Order: sequence, then structure tokens, then C-alpha cells
Amino acid sequence: MDRLAKNSVLDRDGYLTLIRNRDSVREYAAGLATEIKRQHYGDRVFIRGLIEFTNNCRNNCYYCGIRSGNGCVERYRLSPQDILCCADSGYELGFRTFVLQGGEDAAYTDDALVDIISEIRRKHPDCAITLSVGERSRESYRRLKEAGADRYLLRHETVNPLHYKKLHPADMSHANRLKCLYTLKELGYQTGAGFMVGSPGQTDEDLADEMLFLKELDPQMVGIGPFIPHKDTPFCDEKPGSAELTVFLLSLIRLTLPRVLLPATTALGTIDPAGREKGILAGANVLMPNLSPASVRNKYLLYDNKLCTGEEAAQCIECLKSRIAGTGFKIVTERGDYNGKI
Ligand code: SAM
Repeated sequence: MDRLAKNSVLDRDGYLTLIRNRDSVREYAAGLATEIKRQHYGDRVFIRGLIEFTNNCRNNCYYCGIRSGNGCVERYRLSPQDILCCADSGYELGFRTFVLQGGEDAAYTDDALVDIISEIRRKHPDCAITLSVGERSRESYRRLKEAGADRYLLRHETVNPLHYKKLHPADMSHANRLKCLYTLKELGYQTGAGFMVGSPGQTDEDLADEMLFLKELDPQMVGIGPFIPHKDTPFCDEKPGSAELTVFLLSLIRLTLPRVLLPATTALGTIDPAGREKGILAGANVLMPNLSPASVRNKYLLYDNKLCTGEEAAQCIECLKSRIAGTGFKIVTERGDYNGKI
């Protein structure tokens, strides 16, 4: 553990040993990770306002509640005006980063997204705009960046191509997903990769390889959360991932990528009521409360029992503030950009 804290990297065996013996090092790891986080970001926890603007998706990922094959989902799309309204009310609440997330929905063409991004950029020039809309062409990513997008979240889901095949149908390409991440980096986005913890078929070796891959990619953000089954997917009877392992991996990621922007995710808070606080105390420094209109909250269900689906954004933020106050860190409303070289 000390070697990791000193060098910010281990070999595969080193990571594997830590993952397998985590019971004896988890608290020490969390302490080191917290110290490194403080060195780079002080006691600040950044908030991002999440706008889940469409639950239509062309993909049929086996784990995901909004997969195209799930006929039980009531589909919705937010209009550009709805999205702008979410951003405006988020701005009033203090948010300075908006994350536009959705399924891969062809209704949002490049032109349509360019218009939405440009308008948010025009109205809120002091805010960061993050996109999370899946795999697109290089030209599309370029246009969206030019329109004003600053950051892009695209979890690679797994570094192992065979494992990827167990999680996705044959028409989805692992190689393309990874290529997209490198393209986003090349285009100058603050780029976020990530994976689910405990997705069906994942091994400890895969997790060690995830750490090596993250070190090599060197993303500005990493999103990890436990896999949680959704009742209307092929993985409905699979075991969920554990909060305890997720929290430990947050520490390993912080130690491997000291400046990374690292959320304690809603999925972590769903699987363990104190999960987000535990994440913050183990190295995470970002929270992503929901700004979507309450009327669509319960339709963007990637997994069962998702947190905060009935609450208004203002309620969410108050609840998070009081939870985080107990950790000794504090929620701040600044943009919270990556503070290293991109
Ligand atoms: N379409 C975009 C994409 O592909 O990146 C963004 C939306 S996608 C639903 C966001 C993330 O949700 C995925 O990258 C995946 O890791 C996570 N997710 C989906 N189903 C999940 C589940 N059952 N449990 C936990 N996380 C899940």
C-alpha cells in the first residue's frame, strides 16, 4: 500500500494482492487516499447536476434497465426547453456543472445537441458542460466540443474483451468503446472512463487489469459503482456488486490517479445507505445529484431501487450537504475542473 501511495502505480500482482487481502488494508488505504485527495483538492467535494434527458437507447446491454429490449420501460425525451429549464433551476441552486446523460438516442442528432449545448453555454458561460451520451463518431465529438462541451463520461465497462462479450450483445464493440475514449482525450475533453463493480463474470484479475488500464489511459474522471440487477433484464437474478469492494477500489483509484475527479455514485448510495459518505471518506470527491424533472425520475431506472427518484433537486442537495458535513469534507459549488495536465 505504501508503495502504491509513493509511486502511484503497482504491477498486476501488486494490485491483485491488495484486492484479495483488502480486509486487512482497507482502512489504511482509505486514510492514504483521503490524505492525497486533500493535497490536491483540500476539503472540497464537487457537485454535478445530472440531467437524464432521454431513456431511449439503441443498445441492448444485458445489465441495463433502459436497454432497447426492455418493453416495460415508459420511454421519454426531454425537449431542448425542458433541458434548459433543468439547467436554469440547477444554476439557481448553485450548480456550475451540468451533466447531460442519456441512452444512445438517434433523435438527438449532432445538430440538435449542438443547439442545446450552445444555448446552455450562452446562458451560463461560467458553467462546465459534461456529456454522457455514449459512442459517437470523432466528427460528432469534435462538433459537440466546439459547441461548448468540456467533459465527457464514457465508462468502458470492462477492460477485458471476453468479459465485455458476456455483458453486451454481439453488435456492440469493445474496441470501438476504447477507441472512443482515446478520441475524446485527443480532442481535449476532460474524459471519464469507468466500470461496474461486481458485474457478472468479473474476476479479481479483471479488477487488477482495470487499475493498469486506468493508469495507462490516465483519464481526468473515473466513474465506478456496484452492478445492481434490474428486474426486467437478462441479469435480473445475478448477484449485486458489493459496496465494500467499490469503496476499496475508490481508494486504489485515488492512489493510482492522485488528481482524478472521482464520484461517490448513486449506485453506491443505493446498495448501502451510507455508501456515498463511505466513498467520500475513501478518496471520492464528486457527487452527482439529479436535476431531471421529478416527472421523469422514475423512468430512468438503470437498476432496481434507485435512490432519490421521488425527490426534487433542492431536497437532494440539502440531504447531501448534511450527509457530507459529517465526513469533515464540504460541498462546494465551483466548476471543479481537473487540476492537472489534460
Ligand atoms: N448511454 C451512455 C453510455 O453508454 O455511456 C450513458 C448512459 S449509461 C445507462 C450509464 C452507465 O450506467 C453505464 O455506463 C453503466 O456502467 C451504468 N449502468 C447501467 N446499468 C447498470 C446496472 N444495472 N447497475 C449499475 N450500473 C449500471
